[in-house]
Amino acid sequence: MAVGIAVFFYLLRQNAPYGRHVRPGWGPTLDNRLGWFLMEIPVVVVFLTVLLWEKPPVSAYVWLFSSCFLFHYLYRSIVFPLRLRTTGKRMPLVIVLSAICFNFVNGFFLGYYFAHFAEYPSEWWTDARFWSGMALFWLGLGINWQSDNILIRLRKPSSTGYAIPRGGLFGKVSCPNHFGEILEWTGFALMTWSLPALAFAVWTVANLAPRAWAHHRWYRETFADYPGERRALIPYVL
Ligand code: NDP
Repeated sequence: MAVGIAVFFYLLRQNAPYGRHVRPGWGPTLDNRLGWFLMEIPVVVVFLTVLLWEKPPVSAYVWLFSSCFLFHYLYRSIVFPLRLRTTGKRMPLVIVLSAICFNFVNGFFLGYYFAHFAEYPSEWWTDARFWSGMALFWLGLGINWQSDNILIRLRKPSSTGYAIPRGGLFGKVSCPNHFGEILEWTGFALMTWSLPALAFAVWTVANLAPRAWAHHRWYRETFADYPGERRALIPYVL
């Protein structure tokens, strides 16, 4: 979490160089969609390996939380890259390597926690932390998917330009996909009530809040007719 907070301040000064913020000077690059697959698939492998290393967990809650986590990451590592319209675009290898490092650590901590420490009483489903966290997780995932779908459909299959996104929560913020992702992992931390999931939520904010502010500034500088009432990340607030 401490490293995540340091990264947050670093990213406020230095936009992560992928997508619209890609620029020369970051070393070798690779295909954008391949990059997404290579960045994200390790977390699935590491998480499952650590979770199942000794014996499969017996707690139904652990299976439920693990399924939520894997559902997100199987989509993100396999389906999402296949759907992206970024033909010919590249991302720096250093971004891929740093995301792989993060995903190794995150997958290990969460898998190890669920395999060795997680204990939930049988009535955990009646606890406000469980159901509010679960609701937040699925609400966040819905907002994230809806917003990414709108962004992906802004382009024709072979084009790579940018347009002003409209619809869904884009009426309120520039980056509802990032807002949804933050809600998702905040909900996950709440329902699992665990330190590694809290660390993951902190890291998600550290990565995505600076990116949302950078995107917001970029939209305002790029489009003279960009809607002035839109916030960057949190509707009506930020
Ligand atoms: P972006 O919003 O930057 O881009 C998403 C996709 O939409 C990209 O293919 C992008 O193309 C395209 N796109 C974005 N804006 C426009 C526009 N105005 N017009 C046309 N196309 C557009 O998202 P990120 O790349 O930052 O993240 C992708 C997903 O991964 C998000 O759901 C995010 O929440 C998640 N993520 C999660 C992290 C975490 O820590 N949990 C960290 C990073 C991402 P292009 O690439 O060419 O710009």
